[in-house]
Parts: sequence; structure tokens; C-alpha cells
Amino acid sequence: MSTSTVKADAGHQSMFEAVLARLDVAAKIMNLSEEVAQVLRSPSKEVKVSLPITMDDGKIRVFEGYRTIHSTHLGPSKGGIRYAMDVNSDEVMALAAWMSFKCAVANLPYGGAKGGIKCDPRSMSVGELERLTRSYAKSMKDVFGVNKDIPAPDMGTSGREMAWIVDEFNKIIGEDSPGVITGKPVSIGGSLGRDAATGRGVMVNTLAALKKMGLNKNEVTAIVQGFGNVGSHAARLLSEQGIKIVGIGDHTASFYNEKGIDISAAIDFAAKNNRVLKGFKGATEIQADQLLISKCDVLVPAALQNVINEENAPKIQAKLIVEGANGPTTPEADPIINEKKIVCVPDILANSGGVTVSYFEWVQNKAGYYWTEDEVNTKHDIKMDIAFESVWNNSIQFKTSMRIAAYITALQKLEQGVKLKGAF
Ligand code: NAD
Repeated sequence: MSTSTVKADAGHQSMFEAVLARLDVAAKIMNLSEEVAQVLRSPSKEVKVSLPITMDDGKIRVFEGYRTIHSTHLGPSKGGIRYAMDVNSDEVMALAAWMSFKCAVANLPYGGAKGGIKCDPRSMSVGELERLTRSYAKSMKDVFGVNKDIPAPDMGTSGREMAWIVDEFNKIIGEDSPGVITGKPVSIGGSLGRDAATGRGVMVNTLAALKKMGLNKNEVTAIVQGFGNVGSHAARLLSEQGIKIVGIGDHTASFYNEKGIDISAAIDFAAKNNRVLKGFKGATEIQADQLLISKCDVLVPAALQNVINEENAPKIQAKLIVEGANGPTTPEADPIINEKKIVCVPDILANSGGVTVSYFEWVQNKAGYYWTEDEVNTKHDIKMDIAFESVWNNSIQFKTSMRIAAYITALQKLEQGVKLKGAF
């Protein structure tokens, strides 16, 4: 696959600018109408709320909550809720735009949104988190809706927070509306297979890319950064496919073992160790900054944004990068990766397994009829293969990277939505 000579401009100040840089490159290559590009360059709605909460010590603390709807051109907006200290309006706007592109690439009838609360969930008690989450749900009562805006988990949130939100929302509207949020626990309307879905999508995309590259899955090694929802399931599913996982890491520690790491043992260890890897004995502990540049064939960043940048990109040894996280590669690192002929399956394709099964959850909630895990996984794998193929084909047709090809794939659909709904 050849790479385009059109490069994103260097020196972006914000995450949203990084999104726009890629959008502009793709728009130019595909000759997207300027009017449509203009519509997609701005989010359609931004909501910021102040959330005063009584902490366990009796004191009141005020948190900032966000929800940004980027687009509803292809359907109701969809996107997760993130709890982290670096949540801010720029980040939420970027993540919301990525959701529009991700849903379009995955052929889902959704627009894009994202939400978040600036907080450190690890330092808060369950009671404090519940009060904060319920307060956020109340503040967003006019934003969320089963056919309007449908949240889901993201970094720092899980089924537990989703259960609190659906409960709060149901009380407000006075009826049971499970489809207003996805990523719920299975017992209250969640979908089987949702927990592992993003990791499963990473696995399916990895296998599809390896096949195109002529590499045998039983002869390749992989490193996975992040051992939360995405990273741990991705590592497990890749190792179940015969790929040797030689490196893993989280915010507490990073590990490397050229003979391969027993991922089940690492998962068991983390489960008994407050969900972190520090102290794991199945591999040699290495410096955090060494993990992404250590020897491997497949690199899966599944933790944070901007971890692959101008400094470390030249040192990456992998032949294939599969972006489990959102925005793990800076626009400045893109040309370096392209010049090194590393194939990069971009976030908006690679981690779309989560929103795909979220869509299945919403469909099941609307129908009131629930599928088996096998049905969910089979439907997921089919959708993911179709999405991969369309991006791969666009990368060949437009002679560009998989990242820009994914944007083109999304923009082709969004252009239809914007033009058909039109009425400007
Ligand atoms: P999570 O909170 O379950 O796990 C995050 C992991 O990243 C943890 O293991 C944490 O220790 C690790 N981490 C944090 N800081 C780190 C650091 N400095 N160095 C190394 N590791 C670090 O979150 P998640 O749901 O797994 O999300 C991870 C990424 O995947 C995020 O970018 C998120 O937006 C994206 N994503 C998640 C989903 C989903 O369904 N959960 C779907 C699509 C994309």
C-alpha cells in the first residue's frame, strides 16, 4: 500500500485540531464539498454543567461535567462518558467528532457524541461516585434520550455507572427506558459480549490486517499498552488466536517477556490486585517509555491519547499498529509511521467493536428480545470485517494511509447524511 504525499500540518495545539487536521487531509483527497466539511468542523451542541457533590467528609466539592454532540446526520448521537482529571471541552469535542466518524465507518445508524466529568475516580469512594454520576444524569436529562443521545462507558466508567444513569433517567421520565444508555450490566438489559467487544474488534482488525500483509498470526508477537477494558480483552483474545503477547503495561508498571506472557495469569493477577499490574511476576518489568518501542510485530496502544508521537515514532519496531485507544497517535507521528511503511489500523476503525455491540444492545433493548453471546459475536465479526474491507479498499483506491482512508470512508457516508437532511 502506498501512502499519500498529503500530510497533516504540524504543530497542532489541541486534540480537536488534530481531528480537523485529519478531516482536512481526507476532505482534500476525496474532494469533499467545502459546505459539508464546514458543517462537520463544528460540533452541533456543547453542554457544560457544574456538579456540586457532598463528599464523604461532609464537605461540598464542585465538579465539571461535559456532553458534546458532534453530529446527528446519520442518526441519534452515540458516545461514551469518561471520568478523568484531564477531561476538558476540547478533548470531549475531539472524542465526539471521532464518534461520528467511527459510527459512520462501522455502518451504524448513529451520529457522534461524548461526555465526561473532570474527576479522579480512583480517589473517590463508591458513594461519592454514585452521587456524582446521578447528579450528572439529572443535569443531562434533556440531552440524553433513547432516540436522541445514547451514552456508554469510556475510560474510568463501567456498567456500574451506566446502571446508576439509567436508573436516574427512568425516575425522571417515569418509565423503563433501557435503550437510553448502553454498556449496562447484562442483568438490567446489557448485551452479552459488550464487555469484551472493543477488545474483540481490535482482535478482528488485527487478524484482517495480518492477512492482508501476508503475515501468519501464529508467527507474530504483540505488545499491548493498557490493561483495562480494551487492553486486557484485546491481549486475551489475541493470545487465544495464537499471537504471542510479549509486552503489557498499565499506569502502574510495564512488562516484557520475549518468550510470551501468560495473559490469563496477568488478568487473574490484576483482578486480585486492585485491577493493576504492579507486582506481576510473569515477565521482566521495564520502563514505561520502553514498552511501545520494544521488539514486536503488532503494537496495540489501548490506554491513552498522544502516546505515539514525534519522539518515539521513529523507534517503533512493530510492522502493524492497531489503535485500541482513541487518538493514541499524534498527527505529527502519522507521516513518520507512513514513511516507515508501518500499517496503522486507526482508532475509528480498530476500536469500533465497542460501539458496534452497543448498537446491538440498543437494538435488543428496543426489541425487548435478547441474543446469545455467539449471535452477538458473529454479527460483530461480520460488521467489523465489512468495515475493515471498505477502509482497506479506500486506502488502495485513494493511495493513502488506513487512517485517512477511514476518514474518507466516514466522510463519504456523512456527506450523504448532511446533503440528504440538508435544509440549510
Ligand atoms: P480503562 O479505564 O478500563 O483502562 C485504561 C487502562 O489504561 C488502564 O489499564 C490504565 O492503567 C491504563 N493507563 C492509564 N494511564 C496510563 C499510562 N500513563 N501508561 C500506561 N497505561 C495507562 O479504559 P478503557 O475503556 O480500556 O479505554 C482505554 C482507551 O480505549 C481509551 O482511549 C478509550 O477512549 C478507548 N476506547 C474504549 C472503549 C470501551 O468500550 N471501553 C471503546 C472505544 C475506545
